[in-house]
Amino acid sequence: MRRKKKLRIKKKPIFFILIIFLIFGSILIIKKTTFKTNKEIKLNELNNIDKEITYFDYKKLDRYIKYKQKNKSLSNKEVVMDVNIGIDRDYYTHTKPSKNLNTTIILVNKYNYLKKNYIPKNLKDVSLKYSRSDMKLVGEAKEAYEKMAYDAYKQKYRINAISSYRSYNYQVNLYNRYKQKDGIDAADKYSARAGYSEHQTGLAIDIDNGKVDFNNFESTKEFKWMIENAYKYGFILRFPKDKEKQTGYQYEPWHYRYVGKKAAKYMYKNNLCLEEYYVKKIEN
Ligand SMILES: [Zn+2]
Repeated sequence: MRRKKKLRIKKKPIFFILIIFLIFGSILIIKKTTFKTNKEIKLNELNNIDKEITYFDYKKLDRYIKYKQKNKSLSNKEVVMDVNIGIDRDYYTHTKPSKNLNTTIILVNKYNYLKKNYIPKNLKDVSLKYSRSDMKLVGEAKEAYEKMAYDAYKQKYRINAISSYRSYNYQVNLYNRYKQKDGIDAADKYSARAGYSEHQTGLAIDIDNGKVDFNNFESTKEFKWMIENAYKYGFILRFPKDKEKQTGYQYEPWHYRYVGKKAAKYMYKNNLCLEEYYVKKIEN
């Protein structure tokens, strides 16, 4: 009899601990299920887009839903792409410093900026044969640009650089001039605010053919040549006509950006602008 009593006393604390574990376990399971259900409901609203889109980001789920409600005609892929680029938010809000500084895939736009003191490394003068005086590009872009302009020249096309690297302070003055002339809304459509211009990267270049004003570059045979060939040298048309929403800029037939041959080819073949490439290939 005495032995049995002892055993019962020893078992009690274990029993107690087991019950506590059971209670806490159940709470956790219930919590988890509720959370999962909420998430599932939200995903159902978007037809489970996480399964088909590799660059889907759970952290942005609420933004996807909100954006989809406002833009019902968009496909799920477009919704995820737009939100990942950031265009569900107003320009120049939720901005962050650009990553990948001093690389050829650096992204500068109305959400990603360069600091005042950012000067790209290895800036070089562009040959006067293919540019106005005092044009500078990052070494790799300069080499590629001159090779492209030379090959064009051999085929009787004239490619001429009229703007290239621009410092932060230069952009301050330029933007302010435009703002005074046309007002802030118009200026924001065709010009970048200081820090938000990709000319500060030393990888962007504006061109004409030395005869026609750059505004009419689209009408020249050089433009056609650039559209067919620029990517082979690592350049992309940075602000295409069909990508105004994604880039945040109106069409600029004269503005090209060096991204390197591999990236340029990929964007050209898949009809992607730099923002889309970034979402698919860099951030993903
Ligand atoms: Zn430009």
